Formats: sequence, C-alpha cells, structure tokens
Amino acid sequence: MLFSKTLIPTSKENPKDAVLKSHQFLVRAGYIHQIGSGIYNFLPLGKIVLDKIIEVVKTRMNEANAQHITMGFVIPAELWKNSGRYEKYGKELLRFQDRKNNEFVLGPTHEETITEIIKAFVKSYKQLPLNLYQIHLKFRDELRPRFGLMRGREFIMKDAYSFHSSVEDLDREFELMRQTYIKILQDLELDFRIVDADSGAIGGSGSKEFMVLADCGEDTIVMCEECQYAANIEAANRQKRTPPAPPIMPPKADFALFSTPNVTTIQKLCEFFHIHAYWTIKAVVKKIILDSNKQDFGVFFLRGDDSLEETKALNALNANGMQAIELQEASAQEIEQIGLIPGFIGAYALRSIIGDRPIIFDIDLQDEADLICGANQINHHFVGVDLSTFENLIYADISTINQNDKCAHCGGNLIYKKGIEVGHIFKLGDRYSKALNAEFLDENGKSKPFIMGCYGIGITRLMPAILEQKADEKGCIWGKASTPFLIHIIISNTKDKEQSDFGLWLYNTLQSKNIQVLCDDRDLRFGAKIADFELIGSSYCVVVGKELQSQKIEWINRQNLHKKEFSTHNIIESILRELDNAD
Ligand code: ATP
Ligand code: MG
Repeated sequence: MLFSKTLIPTSKENPKDAVLKSHQFLVRAGYIHQIGSGIYNFLPLGKIVLDKIIEVVKTRMNEANAQHITMGFVIPAELWKNSGRYEKYGKELLRFQDRKNNEFVLGPTHEETITEIIKAFVKSYKQLPLNLYQIHLKFRDELRPRFGLMRGREFIMKDAYSFHSSVEDLDREFELMRQTYIKILQDLELDFRIVDADSGAIGGSGSKEFMVLADCGEDTIVMCEECQYAANIEAANRQKRTPPAPPIMPPKADFALFSTPNVTTIQKLCEFFHIHAYWTIKAVVKKIILDSNKQDFGVFFLRGDDSLEETKALNALNANGMQAIELQEASAQEIEQIGLIPGFIGAYALRSIIGDRPIIFDIDLQDEADLICGANQINHHFVGVDLSTFENLIYADISTINQNDKCAHCGGNLIYKKGIEVGHIFKLGDRYSKALNAEFLDENGKSKPFIMGCYGIGITRLMPAILEQKADEKGCIWGKASTPFLIHIIISNTKDKEQSDFGLWLYNTLQSKNIQVLCDDRDLRFGAKIADFELIGSSYCVVVGKELQSQKIEWINRQNLHKKEFSTHNIIESILRELDNAD
C-alpha cells in the first residue's frame, strides 16, 4: 500500500478517556475509529490486522475439523424465552421489536440458535460429533464499555459449539479445543495461562479461560508458584488455612456473652481482644437479586481476615436451591429492616431473626472452635464459639483467595497475576438441548438430549491484548502473524528522484514476492514518518535516505529498534535472508 493513498489517520493526540496504551495506539495509529459508546469502526489498517487474526483462528479451527458457518446476529426472542435466558441474561441483552411488534434480541452468544440448527438437521448418533463455528458480531450492552476494543458493546467473537452423543466424546473434543486454543495463542506469540474458570450465565460444568498476562488485565488470576495450578479468582480454591503462628494464640475461652461497646468492625474486635482476625467471624449481608425479579437478603460468614468472593457466593446460593442472578450491597438500613444489627451480626439465634433466608458459612470455618462472633445484640459478642456444636449449617467455598494462601494441589504459595481473558471453553452438557428439546436417537433407538460444548475467542479483544503485551512506549508492536505489514519503506525525501525511484522499485519488487509492504511516499519530514512507523508497528522498516548515494539503506527492527545497514546491491536477497532468519 502507498501511505499517501491509504486512509491511515495517524495522530499525536491521545483520545480522551483512553487509559490503556493499546487503546491509545490503536486510535492514534489509525487502526480504529469510535462511533458510539463501545462501538468501533475498523479502518484499513485495523481491518488488515483483524483479518490476519481471523485467518490464524480459522486455520486452526479448520485443522481441528470444525466447520465454518454464520448465524443471524438478530435472534427471535422466543428462542431465548424457551431456553430461559431471555429474563436471566439481564441488561446486557439488547431486546427490541420490529414493525409488527415481534420481539428480537441482538445475539450476545449463540447457544440457542445453534441448538435450533442441530435440532432441525441431526437426528441420529451417526451424524455426531459435530463442531460448528462462526466468526461474527456479538452485542452485549455492557455496564461499563471501556478500554477501546477490550470491552466493547459490539465486538467480534469466534464462537464454536460442539454436539456429542456422550460425555466422554465431549471430553475428547474439549481437550482438542484446548490444544487448538494453545496453538492459536502461540501463533499470535502471546504469553498466556489456561485457568480454571467460573461458568457464568451460560451455565455448564468444566470451564477454562485463556488469559493473556498483562498488568492492565481486568481479571485476577491465582497462580501456584510451585505447580501448574492457575484459576480465575472467581473460581480459585486453596488448602484449608493454618492458624497464625504463635505468639498470636487462639482466644481460648468458655462460651460466653461479652460486652463489646462500639466494637463494630473486625479491626476493633481484634484490638479489643488482642487477637488475630483469623479467630473472628465476619458477617457479610448481601441483597440477592433473583431470577423472578424479586429480591431477598442472605448472610455469609467468613473468617475476619477473609473477604467474600461474590461469584462463588452466587454459585453457593444456586447450589442450594436458589435462582440468584446477582448480589448487591445491602445498606445499613436494609440490614436493620431484616432485624440485624450492623457490627454485631452472629450465628446464634440467627434463624429466629431472619427466617428461612440463606445463611452460608465459608468452608474454612467448618467445625472450627475458639472463635469470636457477633451476638445479634447491640454492643455484644460471643467468645468461645464452636461451630461443630451447630447442626445443619451450610458450608461452601465463598471466600476470595489471598496471596500467600496455600495451593490445594501441592501446598505451594499462591500469588496473583493480572490477565486479559481472550478465550473461554465450556462443557455445557445438556443445559440447552434439554431446554430446547433437541434430541437424537442413540444406538438403541432411544431419544436423548445432545451433549454440548462451547468455545469462544474474543477476536477483537485479541488486538488490544497483543498490544498490551508487546507494545512499547513509542507505539504498536505485533507478532509475525498479526503485523499489518512485514516491511514499511520510508522514502526520506520524496522530492529526491533517486530516493523516490529506488523506494518505489523496492516497494513493487517486494510486493511481487507476496510480501506485505507499506511505502511511506508522503511529502513530510523524515521525523514524522519514522514516528508513524514506530506508532503503526510494521515488523521492519527500510529507510531510503541520503545514504542511497553511497548505495546504502537502513534496516530497522521494530521489536527492539536495532538498526543495520544494507548495501543496495542484492538488497532483495538481503531482505529475504533477514526475514528468513527471523522465522
Ligand atoms: P468478560 O468476563 O470479560 O466479560 P465473558 O466471560 O463475558 O468475558 P464469554 O461469554 O466467555 O466472555 O465470551 C467469550 C470471549 O469473548 C471472552 O473470552 C472475551 O475474549 C470475548 N468478550 C466477551 N465480552 C467482550 C466484550 N464486551 N468486548 C470484547 N470482547 C469480549
Ligand atoms: Mg462478560
């Protein structure tokens, strides 16, 4: 491409609200253009990179025998009502009506549609397994669209869905997709981790996320320093905690009511009794938003130095028969309205106060003794609390893993890392096929719901993810498979005929060898052109400048900005050799 004839609106100005370097560079280098909140246009450079990423994903998916299709972006609402997700998906689902008042949604994900396709055409186990994928638009009315392409409202996803006659066959495909995703992210030269994940609103059992490691990542990954264990903090677990080492001793005492005036926080409680927060029980009251649009309140008990992990708490509620969608803060007033006293909430006589509202204890407190908790009376706590004396308590893993907690697999130290979720694979089981009555006949002629898996990759999110990991302070750096141009020629002074002729000859010759080249033929200062090369981040730059008089050109590697000189004799061979060596 000739720079002068291509729409590449580079700019020195950072867009307002752009805090991430990927967002700043993608806009400043003329890759993307914002047209609405969380909605972006892809300009020529953006489209080139997008297509390159798509090519990598497509090649690896096809290799794994997945079949490429495209499904409608607009989906009849009835399908979503049948699966039960029309209500459940919440406000991220954009619902609308056509001129005849028929209801529709803009697809945020396509389990319902694909299940309808399979239901229509697949009748027998002999037609299975199948894995169908699309690379297409999604719309999610995100609460906080931000960071440019990282969290858009309209974005492109690769979503694949597989159908099986048995759980074992799903397990096989899940592993194949895991391997396929590894290849895709390796092709894109990304440093990533595969982590255990929560299954979220899509539902299902086994689920893994693919996280690109980057400090700006919105996800916290819990990783073991010793073994391979890694999990999203929403799904991470740990070994049972050990008591703090002496001299901090457990507060051994007979069960008794203690006057604790104004001791309303864990910190004050620890100071009052001179103990470690490990020995205290913290009560967290949450407002629970239910599937039915109703709301309720629940009480969660944790060790005083732990904190509630809301995703785990939500899962624990649903595992105990609730249909909860979301947890929200309960105000002091709301807490008082259900009969509780903020600062003094405890386990004793709680049922008689809050009735059958959910009460869940963190698993680390299971049957623990020597604890101190609120007495459900103003200015009072109980000491000598022994949870093993209670009957029918519900225990679940609901606390956030802390750094330096111990790995449940090997006892190693757990640490945090930040990651960008670029992919997510799920075992769905029969969640959708059952709800939508999608069945096949097995070997014995018996009707059975399809066993399903689903596999997503954030195509448009991959663009900023690559940059967050690779870009430097000057601009974009891409991998070989994602770079917009392998070679960027700068004709230093376009008024110099010799430079111009040589630059254009080089451009045409390299292009004829199927090398993607951008030739900067603009009548601009050299400084502006080199800054644009660094901003755009093509892999290499050839500077055709004054040195041409002594038959030399300069070669710059964008990754490390190392420079070399090449003789113009055999220049094509030199460049080809350089590109070969880089492989
Ligand atoms: P997140 O937790 O980041 O909202 P998610 O769990 O909702 O992601 P999935 O439903 O698993 O995402 O979608 C599959 C992939 O689509 C994600 O791994 C991510 O790469 C991408 N993705 C999801 N939401 C967005 C978005 N708003 N903008 C861009 N990409 C997205
Ligand atoms: Mg999401």
